[in-house]
Amino acid sequence: VSHSILGRGIAAGIIDVQVINPRDCSTNKHKTVDDYPFGGGAGMVMKTEPLVAAIEASKESGTEESPVIYLSPAGSTLTQAIAAELSELNGMTLVCGHYEGIDERVREHWIDRELSVGDYVLTGGEPAALIVIDAVCRLIPGVLGNDDSPADESFSAGTLEYPHFTRPADFRGHKVPDILLSGHHAKIEDWRRTQALVRTRSRRPDLWERLMPLSKEDRKRIDTFDRLGES
Ligand code: SAM
Repeated sequence: VSHSILGRGIAAGIIDVQVINPRDCSTNKHKTVDDYPFGGGAGMVMKTEPLVAAIEASKESGTEESPVIYLSPAGSTLTQAIAAELSELNGMTLVCGHYEGIDERVREHWIDRELSVGDYVLTGGEPAALIVIDAVCRLIPGVLGNDDSPADESFSAGTLEYPHFTRPADFRGHKVPDILLSGHHAKIEDWRRTQALVRTRSRRPDLWERLMPLSKEDRKRIDTFDRLGES
């Protein structure tokens, strides 16, 4: 988190990330944080006492309303809408599991919400926590530079984003679409919207379904694209 945009947000005092290692909360001589599962079976489970002590320490440094979120493959999948919702909060505690995960009683009584970063299994919750921190913090006003508005980005308006190009206009024979060199802002906006729609339709039918019914303008854009190949 000390790099790039998050690092700048921290340096500017807009965001603050504290790490609490449950191992430091373990009272046992060996600083143990895992134990054998009741009922047997493979793998270890995170011990209740150090984990709850770590959650409580985090809650003390946060505000009363800050939720405790467990990163878990069984949680709801993080979306841009959830990131936007979390960016409105004063803070949150992100609990990173390890081994087979956490004791079910901790999950039931100390966790407010569970978030997954996708249908795959990580070895620990830290990369997932970093994804949540990144997706949430960049939506906090002042974290991104003025020029990098998140409003146009993929998912914000329910579509994927349009394609980007930069100089040179001709790279090894691959040319930038003429419209982008035209200087005609209204036509460029129209082209970008069409590209966003077409891209969403071909790559993410689930998002496309949710865009229905299309506005009259978007319907016209898509019809023109289908007729001519390009708008
Ligand atoms: N036994 C668990 C299961 O099958 O669901 C997987 C445990 S995983 C090896 C260890 C930790 O990584 C989890 O407790 C969780 O905190 C984190 N983790 C793994 N995959 C994740 C995902 N897709 N999203 C969020 N966190 C994940």
